[in-house]
Amino acid sequence: MNNSSIVPGSTICILGAGQLGKMSLTAAHQLGYHTMVWSPQGDIPAMEMATHRIVAPFNDRGALEEVIKRADVVTTEWENIPVELLKNLESRDKLVRPSSHVLKIAQSRWMEKSFVSSFGIATTPTIFIKKGDVVTRFADIIDEFMPGILKTDRLGYDGKGQCPVNTIKEVQTALDAYGCDCVLEKCADLICEISVIVARNQTGIHVSPAVVNRHKDGILASSLWSPELIQLDIEELAQNWAAKTAKKVELQGILAVEFFVTSEGLLFNEMAPRPHNSFHASIEASYTSQFEQHVRSVCGLPLGDMRFHTPFEMRNLLGSVSEENLMECLMESQPRLHLYGKKEARPGRKMGHITHLLSR
Ligand code: ADP
Ligand code: MG
Repeated sequence: MNNSSIVPGSTICILGAGQLGKMSLTAAHQLGYHTMVWSPQGDIPAMEMATHRIVAPFNDRGALEEVIKRADVVTTEWENIPVELLKNLESRDKLVRPSSHVLKIAQSRWMEKSFVSSFGIATTPTIFIKKGDVVTRFADIIDEFMPGILKTDRLGYDGKGQCPVNTIKEVQTALDAYGCDCVLEKCADLICEISVIVARNQTGIHVSPAVVNRHKDGILASSLWSPELIQLDIEELAQNWAAKTAKKVELQGILAVEFFVTSEGLLFNEMAPRPHNSFHASIEASYTSQFEQHVRSVCGLPLGDMRFHTPFEMRNLLGSVSEENLMECLMESQPRLHLYGKKEARPGRKMGHITHLLSR
């Protein structure tokens, strides 16, 4: 194997400890790796799965030294890990995959859209608005983005940190309320959202088929796939764009890319260098799951085949799930139930998901 291969028996460290980490750890253990997790919070899904656990803030020097000593490769399950930490690890010759450079771009809606536009990928029309700006000063420009959505440039997820806007006054009110740098996006004439996972390492590149995503109140409610659900030329374009992005950013690892299918064609929405909620059904429905692909890609192993062998609908379990619902689901033989083991349910919080495999 190539020098940069991290062979089974080595230790993978995941930064962040949510459900994505938990499912990547399961795949890592299956492939014979030791694991460690570092997260500021101890009481979250991936912690109990890891061979070795560090509960400490991401600027903790002792924790950093421990990772440097024990881990053969460091990866992330959350794109908002401090870039400084990743750079520190890199400066100490630790393999960080994906790299600090990839995370830096993916942490900002403005940077990721500017980056992909620079090599010809179409995005939702977007402008950057600085914290505290007086937007009436560029009223004419803003008018062209109405009706729009004002989004915080960083740290938005599950529809949080975004707000529909129809007038300049509404833009100003939302900007002031967020109190941080924002982007203003024109509302796309959405037919649907699709996503793909691209994996890349020194052995090659592989792009998954595209899945269709349905949202409710800004949160992913379900993802589905069946043959010919998505027009072939649209899927191919999404795959080409994802592959191009992965090469340009010199990805080592996986990258989830979301696109809007609109009446005017395909538009890049956002990317995340980690497994993605829309591909949870790949555990049951793909030859290689996104979690195994995550492990293979960051360890420099040959990439798996993420094509789907069975059509599916994956549904998120959001907020509190009643015992009655769980029992109902468990009594049906076919749906695959995944519960993340989160201690506390909050409205809209992802507590688990159900994969329904469908017949062709
Ligand atoms: P998040 O980080 O919460 O996933 P997104 O930017 O992906 O943020 O937005 C969540 C959802 O809101 C999208 O999947 C889409 O359904 C809708 N949305 C976001 N931006 C736009 C837009 N510019 N035009 C139309 N719909 C949008
Ligand atoms: Mg999104």
